[in-house]
Amino acid sequence: AKAIGKNNYQFYSKVLNAEATERLDMENGLRRALARGEFELYYQPKVATRTGRILGAEALLRWNHPERGRVSPAQFIPLCEETGLIIPIGDWIIRTACLQTLDWNRQGYADLRIAVNLSPLQFRQPDLVIKVVETLENTGIDPAQLEFEVTESGAMEDMEKTIRTLNTFKEMGIHISIDDFGTGHSSLSYLKRFPVHTLKIDQSFIRNLSTSDKDAAIVCSIITLAHSLEFSVIAEGVETQEHLEFLGRQGCDEIQGYFFSPPVPSHDFTRLLQQGPMP
Ligand code: C2E
Ligand code: CA
Ligand code: CA
Ligand code: CA
Repeated sequence: AKAIGKNNYQFYSKVLNAEATERLDMENGLRRALARGEFELYYQPKVATRTGRILGAEALLRWNHPERGRVSPAQFIPLCEETGLIIPIGDWIIRTACLQTLDWNRQGYADLRIAVNLSPLQFRQPDLVIKVVETLENTGIDPAQLEFEVTESGAMEDMEKTIRTLNTFKEMGIHISIDDFGTGHSSLSYLKRFPVHTLKIDQSFIRNLSTSDKDAAIVCSIITLAHSLEFSVIAEGVETQEHLEFLGRQGCDEIQGYFFSPPVPSHDFTRLLQQGPMP
């Protein structure tokens, strides 16, 4: 029994070592990725439910790793958060999204709104507002063309500070959305106090929309809630015609998901813009 215990221990310590090495490897890779230009933003259209018009996009980070290929953000964003690397990377994301918006403006698509995900750590930076103001000034884009997606859990950590920061952004004209709405552990009372424009229904509620009465009921309630608070509402993870029809009937303002397009590189997004309204 003793021998087995020892073998087990050796086995687990090997696994743990492999995990630690893997993590360290990834961390070192992330540290170099910015300087080496391995990051790229993909853009996924946000579409008006009624007209099929592309209103804007969500910018989503991609890491083109020289050996591992494309690494999923689900794998490396948490590590960026833990190591603080999300701060310089986040600055790059905001600047790149603004520069891309400027590029589309110059091509004649001047009323797009581009959404950037703000991670909790990034959101809590004392100088975030200053950095955003500088980026907007340097690129010269209208703050109304910029949107921030913040999660409930990320925003709830320091309520008073969050309200101050969001108020400043709102006064500047930046659009604020609550991402993954319905999955946080927060109470609804913050909705009275947060300066918010849009609720984004989490894709977990959309996935089983056609088969789950409960998910359908939750989606309807979120749409009603948003509208009675005078927010707009968008659904993410819209994959099928049924999803689209259901959300259209319920008055969901905007739609995002594979049904229209996955996130794509900027030049492919330009092609989507050229095609005109989505089917
Ligand atoms: P999120 O902000 O909730 O982003 C939505 C995720 O759903 C994206 O995954 C998107 O590609 C995916 N998605 C879009 N349409 C569909 C669909 O129809 N069906 C399904 N099943 N999925 C769909 P992605 O790009 O892998 O990003 C995952 C998460 O990583 C994001 O979740 C966000 O939390 C984080 N992330 C991505 N890019 C950034 C970034 O630039 N900054 C920060 N802070 N976080 C990011
Ligand atoms: Ca998001
Ligand atoms: Ca989301
Ligand atoms: Ca999510």
